[in-house]
Amino acid sequence: MYIGLGSNLGDRAGYIQSAVALLREKGVSVLKQSTIIETDPVGGPPQSKFLNAVVKVETQLSPLELLGQCQAIEQKLGRARTVVNGPRTIDLDILLYDRFTIDTPQLRIPHPRMFERAFVLDPLKEIESDLLETFFDARHKIR
Ligand code: ADP
Ligand code: MG
Repeated sequence: MYIGLGSNLGDRAGYIQSAVALLREKGVSVLKQSTIIETDPVGGPPQSKFLNAVVKVETQLSPLELLGQCQAIEQKLGRARTVVNGPRTIDLDILLYDRFTIDTPQLRIPHPRMFERAFVLDPLKEIESDLLETFFDARHKIR
């Protein structure tokens, strides 16, 4: 399982580290953490640059429970949802959960925009270089 983290408000690196620490407190084992990279905002209003990272995790929580914990962490770290795609102290997105495909309004896995976002793909490649090749190989074979 992989979770993408992003922040572009306040102590950005601090928020990412706090979110990782809070995941650990909530029954999520963090197995690997990518380096934190700075990226330009994609979509939304003009806003400052993001710091992004990806973590590889393991948990007994179900996908919906994991989403609930991610949202609780966002709240705890002061995320306000005022502007769609606007600046945020912290954003946690579930990218992949084993081989599950989930497609509901509340939860979509794989995260629908992850394959076109360099700020997700680059950290993911860093911590799991084979993973994306597996995905793209599979797509290639299907065609
Ligand atoms: P975004 O991450 O797209 O900028 P938000 O963080 O505000 O936007 O999330 C909006 C909604 O996306 C959440 O309320 C959540 O229910 C939904 N969502 C759907 N799939 C996922 C996922 N894989 N990870 C996290 N949130 C998701
Ligand atoms: Mg999100």
